[in-house]
Amino acid sequence: MSARITIVGGGITGLTTAYRFSKLMPGAQITLIEAGDHVGGKIRSSPFAGIAGVDEGADAFLTRIPHAVALAAELGLTDQLTSPAVVSANVWWNGMHEIPEGLLLGVPSDLATLARSHLLSWRGKLRAGLEPILPGTGVGADSVGRLIRKRFGRQVHERLVDPLVGSIYAADTDRFSLAGVPQILDLASNNRSLLIGARRARAKVKAATGPIFAAPTGGMAVLTDSLAEALAAADVEIRTGQSVTSIERSGSGWLVDGEVADAVVLATPARTTAPLVGAISGDAAKALATFDHAGVVMVTLAVAGTDWPRELSAKSGYLVPKPVQNWVTAVSFASSKWAHWRPADADGDVILRISLGRDGRDLTDQSDDALLNAAVTDVGHHLGFSLRPTAHRITRWPLAFPQYRPGHAKRVTGIEADLARDAPGIFVAGASYRGIGIPACIEQGNSTASALADFLEPVRN
Ligand SMILES: Cc1cc2nc3c(=O)[nH]c(=O)nc-3n(C[C@H](O)[C@H](O)[C@H](O)COP(=O)(O)OP(=O)(O)OC[C@H]3O[C@@H](n4cnc5c(N)ncnc54)[C@H](O)[C@@H]3O)c2cc1C
Repeated sequence: MSARITIVGGGITGLTTAYRFSKLMPGAQITLIEAGDHVGGKIRSSPFAGIAGVDEGADAFLTRIPHAVALAAELGLTDQLTSPAVVSANVWWNGMHEIPEGLLLGVPSDLATLARSHLLSWRGKLRAGLEPILPGTGVGADSVGRLIRKRFGRQVHERLVDPLVGSIYAADTDRFSLAGVPQILDLASNNRSLLIGARRARAKVKAATGPIFAAPTGGMAVLTDSLAEALAAADVEIRTGQSVTSIERSGSGWLVDGEVADAVVLATPARTTAPLVGAISGDAAKALATFDHAGVVMVTLAVAGTDWPRELSAKSGYLVPKPVQNWVTAVSFASSKWAHWRPADADGDVILRISLGRDGRDLTDQSDDALLNAAVTDVGHHLGFSLRPTAHRITRWPLAFPQYRPGHAKRVTGIEADLARDAPGIFVAGASYRGIGIPACIEQGNSTASALADFLEPVRN
């Protein structure tokens, strides 16, 4: 009899798990169940301002972590990939400041470029300059914020690392584990001085060729839609519009909402996963229920090209550090960043993607009017002119970003051990566990498929 697998959650992790497993164990009966009306999860692209696929969530993936590039190649998408045309990001700190060169996720690797920046006061720069002579601190209390303040002082933390890391993960870095930022974890684990470690790491990055980010020109959903097509071709059953509510033991296997499975992958956010495992592993459910997630809102605006200051076309956007934040945390000048989203002529619309909310400030229950008003007012204040959008779109992402609290890695290992002991054949995977970005989710999909195949080998034989 062929193995029966149920995968709950049709985001990039669940889709990749199903895809990889269908290759590892052809002939297995695979069902993927997604609560939403479409697969993709946090990846969604839709028409906006005359462009077919403008992203409502993730708009790119890192190329230096190879899993997303490799998957795109496998799906025949390499020719459709493009990279940002403009990468000059800024920080708004009572005025626009270019991010100094030589940073690794905000960690300075070059004191000279830091000294030239007006983002830090002289006091802040002098404090940062002490870092290379401080004794080693290792990973300390496993808090990104505490580590960076200890090494470089308050200003590097609040004006560089917290806005950069915070804007990627909607995080409060004081309550964010190094497990969420492997590049900084690596610096802290393997170097006495983070600055010297960052210098070495940047030298390696410079030696590597090619752009750092990539995305399909049709929008990130091309990746998840292509996966869904490949699954359909491999006879994987994809069900949308079904929210799984119960998992129970049934002999040596499992019942997922009453349907039999030999193994189950829960590729859902930790908070949603907790009640699903309540009846089969109380310990795992308890640990999963402690996870926090930050909700964010993406406001996409179109602004007439004739209203858009020409000098902003050379910038890709900006970040807003917490001490000077209202609701807006980051702004992408999306039509500068992505050449294929540029208007065909000067009258055409320029697209902005504006992020609102973060850990500790969830705005997903605010009204459309309040969100639009905050986006227009905040950005107008930052840029110094009144924005007059010609179109807008508001996307709410509750549970957008899992917040890796200090001790995260140990918590995840514990949950996996609880499940292996109490509920063999039930696996968890996805952004809540071993990396939040798309390449890390794809890697988890790949490794979970291998773990499934290992687990099911006796069922097949
Ligand atoms: C606004 C935003 C911008 C981002 N930008 C980037 C970026 O540029 N680059 C990058 O690498 N990453 C980015 N990320 C992060 C990245 O997109 C996500 O971490 C990743 O897509 C999560 O994938 P996942 O499969 O783990 O989870 P999800 O995408 O959350 O998928 C989980 C799925 O499970 C479904 N589900 C939940 N409960 C049930 C249930 N009971 N039954 C059935 N189905 C259920 C949900 O509907 C969902 O579709 C961004 C995220 C957001 C929100």
